[in-house]
Amino acid sequence: MPTDTMKKIVSLAKRRGFVFQSSEIYGGLKACYDYGPLGVELKRNVKNAWWRDVVTQRADVVGLDCSIIMHPDVWKTSGHLAGFSDPLVDCKNCKERFRADHAPRATAGAECIYREGGKSDGKKLKGVVGAQGYVCPVCGSGDLSDERQFNLMFRTNLGAVDYLQEISAQIGDLAALDGAARMAKLHEIVGKSAVYLRPETAQGMFVNFKNVLDSARMKPPFGIAQQGKSYRNEITTANLTFRTCEFEQMELEFFVEPGTDDEWFDYWQKTRRDWYVGLGITPEKLRLRAHEKKELAHYAKACSDVEYFFPFENAAGEGEWGELEGIANRTDYDLSKHAAATGKDLSYFETETKKRYTPYVIEPAAGADRATLAFLCDAYREEKVADKGNEDDFRTVLKFHPRLAPIKAAVFPLVKKDGMPEKAAEIVAALQDAGIAALYDHAGAVGRRYRRMDEVGTPFCLTVDGDTLEKGTITVRDRDTMRQEIIAVGEVVAYVGERIK
Ligand code: ATP
Repeated sequence: MPTDTMKKIVSLAKRRGFVFQSSEIYGGLKACYDYGPLGVELKRNVKNAWWRDVVTQRADVVGLDCSIIMHPDVWKTSGHLAGFSDPLVDCKNCKERFRADHAPRATAGAECIYREGGKSDGKKLKGVVGAQGYVCPVCGSGDLSDERQFNLMFRTNLGAVDYLQEISAQIGDLAALDGAARMAKLHEIVGKSAVYLRPETAQGMFVNFKNVLDSARMKPPFGIAQQGKSYRNEITTANLTFRTCEFEQMELEFFVEPGTDDEWFDYWQKTRRDWYVGLGITPEKLRLRAHEKKELAHYAKACSDVEYFFPFENAAGEGEWGELEGIANRTDYDLSKHAAATGKDLSYFETETKKRYTPYVIEPAAGADRATLAFLCDAYREEKVADKGNEDDFRTVLKFHPRLAPIKAAVFPLVKKDGMPEKAAEIVAALQDAGIAALYDHAGAVGRRYRRMDEVGTPFCLTVDGDTLEKGTITVRDRDTMRQEIIAVGEVVAYVGERIK
């Protein structure tokens, strides 16, 4: 694929109403995006497909919808308050702030060449790669600050407390303290009412484990699933919605008896990989990457990422693998920690065997925005077509799986007279009535209307013509094969309904 594919996808996303930059008329806000009319449908279809396949169609999984703001002690127990941070570095040459663990590796002591100030017309300078073994991702300089840990959680305050007033009242005492003591005192003042926007949905499932066990009468192996917004104050952001500060997760915590966890871990790795392929992702662009020992979180027994080969531009210009979903064996770490912190029993007693144990957890944690972006990138095609005898004709087409396509069917009157618009509108209403997203379009030649629908991935176009009114037949054109077939008008809803399953 040419390396400007991503640029074209971003441009199409904006032009056709999939993704807009947030607050664009104010100049935009870094790493925040809005979904337009077609994007919201696409993302909703991705979430619905996940919910249906992971929750509704399974007897062993139930759903949950937790609040975004939780008791702050949840984050103390989970380790997020102390450890959910990224190593942050500043480039002294171009002033870029970046994540040390994402920076291009280089040999310590080796020479590095970069431009003064990071400007393309800046003086060419020679430097040396420091002991940290990486350079600035923007200008390539090795002249960098020390790493410092930056917590990714967004802090806010709950209740009618204005900590600024308390700080103001104590400003004299604070000024008298040395740096570390002053920071500790400030943390104490702010901390009294501090709460956090959740950085993941998972903790909501752990703290509700007992509630679900008792109310839904579940027993391991069983899962609790949730979709919802999570927030991370990400330092580096790029590539449309791949890494944003506000995003949506689709997470499953699957509780199993210790000893059966390896088997379930394998099961969920395969099931989750197959899910993306089943919804049309090119298998060669999808991989399961097992974490190496040093990469594993301290509580995880094993972890694999489902990765997609995105057409992102990088130094090599060829796209790169990006994580869509992490599948982890979290052992009994979370339930044990919350049980110890609260004094509540979060074990399970199996009456038949009289066994008591704290379940192990297999966690497939996916991102709705990253999955949506992967489906969008994978669907994008530029094709040479010769459907009108014109060999040089090109079309841009989004080959979405019909389950994901934002619009399932478009209905066109061949001409804007003779009762054809009314008939087309009637068919659109029948499709919508059956819960099928359908659209009416009468503008321009039918060929142009096809192209417009190809560009947003509509699988079926139906054209009402003279025969529709006289003989009750209609022409259906398939997006992918561009083949046309004639069916009875009375069959339209069943025909489209069957093919979008
Ligand atoms: P990364 O290494 O890319 O920062 P992560 O391993 O921290 O991701 P998890 O904590 O495992 O991510 O979260 C589960 C899923 O949530 C990810 O696989 C991804 O799809 C999604 N996700 C995480 N962070 C973001 C983000 N900043 N923007 C969009 N989606 C995200």
